[in-house]
Amino acid sequence: MTATDQMSPDAESAPASRSNPASQTSELLTGVWADLVGQENAVRVLRRAVSAQPHAMSHAWLLTGPPGSGRSNAARAFAAALECDDGGCGRCNSCRTVLAGSHPDVTMVRTETLSITVKEVRDLVVKATMSPSRGRRQVIVVEDADRVTERGADALLKTIEEPAPRTVWLLCAPTAEDVIITIRSRCRRLHLATPRDAAVADLLVRRDGADPTLAASAARAAQGHIGRARALARNEEARNRRAWILSLPTELRTLGDCLEAARRLDEDADAEVGAATAELDARERAKLERALGLDTKGARARNAQAAIRDLESEQKARTKRMRRDALDRVLTELTTFYRDVLAVQTAAVSLDDEAALSGPRLVNAEFSRQIHQMADSSSPAQTVHRIDAILDTRRSLESNVAPLLAVETMLIAISGVDEKLRGRVARPSSAGPAHGWRAHPHRSAPHRSAGPH
Ligand SMILES: [Zn+2]
Repeated sequence: MTATDQMSPDAESAPASRSNPASQTSELLTGVWADLVGQENAVRVLRRAVSAQPHAMSHAWLLTGPPGSGRSNAARAFAAALECDDGGCGRCNSCRTVLAGSHPDVTMVRTETLSITVKEVRDLVVKATMSPSRGRRQVIVVEDADRVTERGADALLKTIEEPAPRTVWLLCAPTAEDVIITIRSRCRRLHLATPRDAAVADLLVRRDGADPTLAASAARAAQGHIGRARALARNEEARNRRAWILSLPTELRTLGDCLEAARRLDEDADAEVGAATAELDARERAKLERALGLDTKGARARNAQAAIRDLESEQKARTKRMRRDALDRVLTELTTFYRDVLAVQTAAVSLDDEAALSGPRLVNAEFSRQIHQMADSSSPAQTVHRIDAILDTRRSLESNVAPLLAVETMLIAISGVDEKLRGRVARPSSAGPAHGWRAHPHRSAPHRSAGPH
């Protein structure tokens, strides 16, 4: 998610289904479509395509939508409905096997690595030429079409231009611009909205049995990201960690605090990614070794070693990307905090509005005390500088800056410690150990204490 998404006032009012009567919505979101909350418009389009209305179907689709809006869930539901004899009943064997990922004619491609290579695309192209073995169509879902390499895209283009009669391509990407123009111009495009908080909360209550109050606050905190909302509603540890992250702006007072917090954020990201990849890495390696015949006794062929090296470097790239994503989520949380501070400072959200639950709401309403404290003790210009510092960090993480260093620099900037140190340097009488941390000489806003009084 980019900063623009975060800051966009449209983000919360985007869904067009607001005026639909609930009964119409509940009729629409049944069977395989049941969990596509907030996506009534998209579901209408896909249902028409499945029902073979003239011109409603296309052999290539590009589903776009912000992270967490449910692109791949929509693609999977669409695939199930295309295989189902009853338009996606959700109960038959076809529906169930597609949703479980085991239908022989539905290929779901998701990559954990940075790119989808030309070789992987060629394998898909071969698959696309085959007739369905059991189902009605051959469906190929590429969940991260934005990660197809340029050469891969060339290979893909041919098959999309001259499709096999019963093959359907479903490409997913954050925005249409993330997919090269020659491909996207040949696809039917469908955009998924950011689901409304109420729709996400409703899903958490209905499907996961979450407590309604908890579901509402998780949905608001996750800002339309369904997976994130679910994690927050289910997992107390995730909520505690979020609370800790959101306490940083008001709790960090000294350079030592900043370094310590950065270390912990970095270690947490490491631990999170380690837990997610250890088993996966081992499984992939065992699978490859079996395929190469290395689990039986035999000489290790040179090309087998090369294949293992390739896998290792791919796994390393994946670990790196997941680590960056984990830290990026911290940046997102902090950005929402300062966005709330700015909303209070510019009177977009007044205390009265908040109490009456009307008007624009704070994303982090449960941290209202800290937000108001920060709003009172700093200027809007300082808040904007802090948001800038977070966005700079996102750019640093995307380039090759060491993550720990990037996070340290950010925390020092948002805590105001850099301003404090600079102030000391300006007064020779109290020169402190400020060298090296004067990272933002352009900041001229007078320092005001960021901490609680
Ligand atoms: Zn079915």
